[in-house]
Amino acid sequence: MTSPLKVPFYRHQLGNIEQKAISESLTREILSSGYIGEQVESELRDYFKVNSACLVNSWTNGALATLITWGIGPGHEVIIPAMTFVACANIVEVLGAKPVFCDVDPFTLLIDLEHLSELVNEKTRVVMPVHLYGQMVDIEAVRMIVGNSIYILEDAAHSFESTFNSLRPGSLSDAAIFSFYATKNISCGEGGAVISNNEIFFDELRQVILHGMSVHAKDRFKGGVFKSWDVERLGVKANLPDILASLIPSQLRTISTKLDRREAIAQFYSEALYKFSDIIKLPKNHGKGTHARHLFPIWVNPSHRDKVVSILIQSGIGCTINFRSVPTLSFYSKKYPEFNNTCIESQKWGEGVLSLPLFPTLTLLEMEYVVDVIIKQVVPILTEPGV
Ligand SMILES: *Cc1c(COP(=O)(O)O)cnc(C)c1O
Repeated sequence: MTSPLKVPFYRHQLGNIEQKAISESLTREILSSGYIGEQVESELRDYFKVNSACLVNSWTNGALATLITWGIGPGHEVIIPAMTFVACANIVEVLGAKPVFCDVDPFTLLIDLEHLSELVNEKTRVVMPVHLYGQMVDIEAVRMIVGNSIYILEDAAHSFESTFNSLRPGSLSDAAIFSFYATKNISCGEGGAVISNNEIFFDELRQVILHGMSVHAKDRFKGGVFKSWDVERLGVKANLPDILASLIPSQLRTISTKLDRREAIAQFYSEALYKFSDIIKLPKNHGKGTHARHLFPIWVNPSHRDKVVSILIQSGIGCTINFRSVPTLSFYSKKYPEFNNTCIESQKWGEGVLSLPLFPTLTLLEMEYVVDVIIKQVVPILTEPGV
């Protein structure tokens, strides 16, 4: 049977305006990180009201460079919520430090502050709260727990538009990092940004993202004078080329109207699924700020999850799993068996979660179709006894 409609998981909106911007970037002398990126960084500083912003070629490389700048390595522990994308743990592991997994609150799915306070010890160097699905963690509360000698790195990959008590990411932490990956609320295919109010950290970070070099390419010939460069520290390659940065300014101008659409779609789904709340669970909104509505996850009984995913896919509806609990992934459960039973809520959520399509150009017809398939095909399965 062919499905009457195809609803992709995500549909990007980059079009004529971005085509023009990318063509314009090709007329410039610098194809790598140059003046277009500098302009975007200044717009990001204004948007987030922070002292410093630096474009990077992914969240992952930006976060890796941040941890390198802070000197994270063997003997150090980095606390991350178990319910997150695996990149959070991978960057810690790559540096030879130890990821320590913290459970999440069963209602909001955000880092569990009580468990966090039990995990902090003299080896802890960084805690990495994740603003999961677009809902912000209370960073002030995290700071109260960890004090000033432990770095707070906000994983803001889902939370470009989010606020908590009117504050945006980057206000109270040591660094907040965004992702501009293909499906994120702002995207340039692959990319990201690091923001911070700590300018000393930032001067070092700018070197670390470019091999540790002291003078970046675009500054080497400033004012017609050649500036020599040195390498004062170890670095990686994490800068964003201007070709990709050129895709961002137009999206900054439309971000708030797109968020209104995301919110309306989330409300539509929530209202349509409300009467099934005993079998289809949704994360709870803590109500203390703006939700960026990056994803719309639902939770079903784990014994039916894979069946539900295949019904949606067969009906032409794109869906994904965000996320499996990181300590249950083979690599981590083998390497760190001590976390096999310490993040129960995260594990439970990860075994039953799946994300529905949510993007600004999703039409009413498409939303109604998704809900129709859930009511007619998914709900009957969920009311059968488990296997
Ligand atoms: C997408 C994502 C990342 C990784 O972003 P990249 O830009 O692809 O490196 C990190 N954390 C979370 C929570 C994400 O969703």
